[in-house]
Amino acid sequence: MPSYTAPTKDMQFVLHDLLKISQSDIPGYQDLDADFTSAVLEEAGKITSEVVAPLNMVGDTEGCVLENGVVRTPTGFQEAFDQVRDGGWTGLDMPEEYGGQGLPYVMGTAMGEMFSSANQAFTMYQGLTHGAASAILTHGTDAQKTTYLPKMVSCEWTGTMNLTEPHCGTDLGLMRTKAVPQDDGSYKISGQKIFISAGEHEMASNIIHLVLAKIPGGPDGIKGVSLFIVPKFIVTEDGTPGARNGVTCGKIEEKMGIHGNSTCVMNYDEATGYLLGEEHKGMRAMFTMMNEARIGVGMQGLAQAEVAYQNALDYAKDRLQGRDVTGVKNPDGPADPLIVHPDIRRSLMDQKSFIEGARAFMLWGAQMIDRSHRMGDKDADGLISLLTPVVKGFLTDEGYQATVQAQQVYGGHGYIEETGMSQFTRDARIAMIYEGANGVQALDLVGRKLAQDGGKHVMAFFDLVKNFIKDNGDNEALKNGFLEPLKQASKDLQAAGMFFMQNGMKNPNAALSGSYDFMHLFGHVCLGLMWAQMAKAAQEALDAGTSDTAFYETKLATGRYYMARRLPATGMHLARINSGADPVMALSADQF
Ligand SMILES: Cc1cc2nc3c(=O)[nH]c(=O)nc-3n(C[C@H](O)[C@H](O)[C@H](O)COP(=O)(O)OP(=O)(O)OC[C@H]3O[C@@H](n4cnc5c(N)ncnc54)[C@H](O)[C@@H]3O)c2cc1C
Repeated sequence: MPSYTAPTKDMQFVLHDLLKISQSDIPGYQDLDADFTSAVLEEAGKITSEVVAPLNMVGDTEGCVLENGVVRTPTGFQEAFDQVRDGGWTGLDMPEEYGGQGLPYVMGTAMGEMFSSANQAFTMYQGLTHGAASAILTHGTDAQKTTYLPKMVSCEWTGTMNLTEPHCGTDLGLMRTKAVPQDDGSYKISGQKIFISAGEHEMASNIIHLVLAKIPGGPDGIKGVSLFIVPKFIVTEDGTPGARNGVTCGKIEEKMGIHGNSTCVMNYDEATGYLLGEEHKGMRAMFTMMNEARIGVGMQGLAQAEVAYQNALDYAKDRLQGRDVTGVKNPDGPADPLIVHPDIRRSLMDQKSFIEGARAFMLWGAQMIDRSHRMGDKDADGLISLLTPVVKGFLTDEGYQATVQAQQVYGGHGYIEETGMSQFTRDARIAMIYEGANGVQALDLVGRKLAQDGGKHVMAFFDLVKNFIKDNGDNEALKNGFLEPLKQASKDLQAAGMFFMQNGMKNPNAALSGSYDFMHLFGHVCLGLMWAQMAKAAQEALDAGTSDTAFYETKLATGRYYMARRLPATGMHLARINSGADPVMALSADQF
């Protein structure tokens, strides 16, 4: 059975050496000294590796079962869910006013990575609840917040998000679910939603569905969509679950991965719903949830890569095959371990350098979210809004690839279910699809986010890179393999942006044919920037005489690998973007 150990040391490095969070001006960060964050991360590491991770394979093999309208989750899920709930983990970064612990989002993000690595299917029950609670927190009335938030923060009640219908996933303007206004101010919701994660189960005493629906007579298309709170059990005056609402689970899907999470067809039959936010402004309200969810899904890519890598690394050190071409390393054994071979090293370095760069990017992004939420910093908000599709699309694509590489280290044994490596790739695959398929993330990035606020945020990103290179031009450690590759990659990104500006208006297909490459180009530059910054931090620790030289030297070498071997991908992406629409659109539909 695969194992999982929380990467607390690496998280501490990012939080303190790189981001220096306890010196930040963001309210709440001053309390986050290294001892405190270490204590939180160690405890989270314990519950994830000892309680949650051992259920990962159980969830995969047993899956969820629908019996007489009731969904049974895999053996042990209920007990573990109770334990996570009792430990207060689900409300770590939610407001104290509603029973949370009030810690910044950056801490919730670090903890979230651990839970996702340990068991993605299990973690989605609490993850979706967090997203739904955030939407109520931002858009709910005082009464709605009082009614739902304390129970959702503690996960006594869980939450869902209901967008998708059989005939519409990306194009939600086609939605058919109806919300008919009632005299008492509530609505009757009717329609069918599909693929609803955690839509039905028995681990919570109520499920609060957030449902998108159209009020008859409203504007056509996406502008006519509103958001509703639809509880499984209608909440009584005293705040407890009362009568069963008109919402039922019709079916659960058989699927490729995340078997421990129930993916439900939800039928709404004149169910009572309550408007959340304003009429016809449902997409805006849902976006609160979706942006958070997209970042959370990006993290799933990183998280599955991390756990798969950990196991591949152990295997590479253990499995004996062939001999080191430069000289025998294990003379007492019949062969040397896999890790001596350069091609296995390449694979492990690809994985490791992606994972550590991605972790820094995630936590740096989480810090931007804290800056936006806790300080009202509009620039930070704009920057993270620009980068959200990059976090989602790039980290899930690359995270999936990393799980495939980890599986490959196992050879044929990686394909056999017993080792658990196949589950990591199967579970990671969905992250490229839900919360907006990655192609649509790329579309959002190029079609919407680049030009947002007159292109101000992308210019701010370029400045960030440019200033870092300028300010550190004399840094000897960075001159050795960091600054030049970063400069080149950043030039590629700017050249791609320029191509879109010059060609996108004349021929939108020219921009959209290159959007996927652009998302990856951008992702590489983000990780390149993170690696350059981490290298600087690592060198500072070495110069200050750290006793842990091995850790910091490893950081520098891993960073140099990313800059030398992975970052040059920007050149390929730029060449593809510059080729424009013609090669992509050359065939008519009939010619395929
Ligand atoms: C396991 C699982 C769990 C899920 N959980 C939830 C959930 O909890 N709640 C929920 O509401 N939904 C959920 N979904 C649904 C998921 O979000 C959608 O499947 C996803 O958004 C894609 O929608 P679709 O399947 O209808 O694909 P389509 O919209 O039909 O898209 C098909 C393909 O075409 C591409 N495409 C579509 N439009 C364009 C365009 N304009 N330009 C370029 N490319 C385009 C897409 O990128 C995609 O690759 C879940 C799905 C699964 C499989």
